[in-house]
Amino acid sequence: MDIFDKCFSFTRADDVKEQGLYPYFRPIEENEGPVVHIEGKEMIMAGSNNYLGLTAHPKVREASIKAIEKYGTGCSGSRYLTGTLDLHNELEARLAKYLGFEDVLLFSTGYQTALGTISTLAQRGDYLISDKENHACIVNGAMMAKGAFADFVRYKHNDMNDLERVLKQIPESAGKFIVSDGVFSVTGEIVDLPGIVELAKKYNARVMVDDAHGLGVVGEGGRGTVSHHGLTEETDMVMGTFSKTFASLGGYVAGPERVINYLKHTSPAIIFSASPTPSSCAATLAALDVLEEQPELVVKLKENSDYMRKGFHEMGFNIIDGESAIIPVIVGELEKALVTWKHLYDKGIFVNAFIPPGVPPNMSMMRTSYMATHEKWHLDRILEAFHEVAEELHFIKK
Ligand code: PMP
Repeated sequence: MDIFDKCFSFTRADDVKEQGLYPYFRPIEENEGPVVHIEGKEMIMAGSNNYLGLTAHPKVREASIKAIEKYGTGCSGSRYLTGTLDLHNELEARLAKYLGFEDVLLFSTGYQTALGTISTLAQRGDYLISDKENHACIVNGAMMAKGAFADFVRYKHNDMNDLERVLKQIPESAGKFIVSDGVFSVTGEIVDLPGIVELAKKYNARVMVDDAHGLGVVGEGGRGTVSHHGLTEETDMVMGTFSKTFASLGGYVAGPERVINYLKHTSPAIIFSASPTPSSCAATLAALDVLEEQPELVVKLKENSDYMRKGFHEMGFNIIDGESAIIPVIVGELEKALVTWKHLYDKGIFVNAFIPPGVPPNMSMMRTSYMATHEKWHLDRILEAFHEVAEELHFIKK
């Protein structure tokens, strides 16, 4: 048996490419936010996580360039050793204050934040308790914790009765860590945090929310899911990413000072990995400035997302409803999803095709997401294109 055998027999992607329906790895040649250029063609972006459009904001771009001029292009070391800049410390302090937590620790990506936090905190004898629809980084963090002999248990999606059932089965003396997406990354639904917090109190568990898709989108001035529910005090930890609202790259975890201090000195993801680049930190700091100075962007994002939800509803599309900036349009089978994606692409609309195994069979979807910088004509064109495709493919609708 050759370890590469599975690679040689893997043809799934090639088959779809041959049909001309492959939706992934399309290189973007220019990016202004709501409008991008792909294969020489101008397209409306309806699939980005650049929620406030800040990758194109002059202040964010300028801060990033200036940081390269001052500090160079990389840190070439972990935070522990040569990789701590004054920028890292400033960003941690600013974020802690903004989010309302005692302290913050930066990681190189959001993915790594989950791995590094979960696997360091949940150890032998502890239980990591996860929503069944949590993001892959939480699942993989839990698998790493399992490798360190923690137990990994899951409860039905956003189902508090099932969470209680799970908690009841765990020995009282065990350490318990409940982790959930704040805004679920596939469906855009918001977590039932009041339910989780109540059960956590009852069963003596700690709670962490992954707010990758909540920050800048929901809550007071965009402070995220925890703020949306008014539960900052009651939530032990929140983590997130700089790759979405913050228009950059990196991750963070916020929590009690003693816990952050422990992670800082024991998490392998911190100790053995280089720190976020100067330009990433500076862009994030500038994005935070914009977020604080222009909370109206968060309001505009909500208006845009609500406009699209209403538009899809009025045309009879099967969407997953919510309050976030993610609106999945359910298409059904895999083949239909690939063809729908291609029709939209040919009409100059870029969305994300989510297909099995990422979603259940028959739940393939066009996962659309919106930005504060989308203008009305962008949104109308997206709706119009969906309508045209639905007519062409006869899938209107519910
Ligand atoms: N958590 C969630 C819920 C996400 O959706 C993502 C990114 N898709 C991440 C974490 C990972 O963030 P990053 O891109 O910074 O690795």
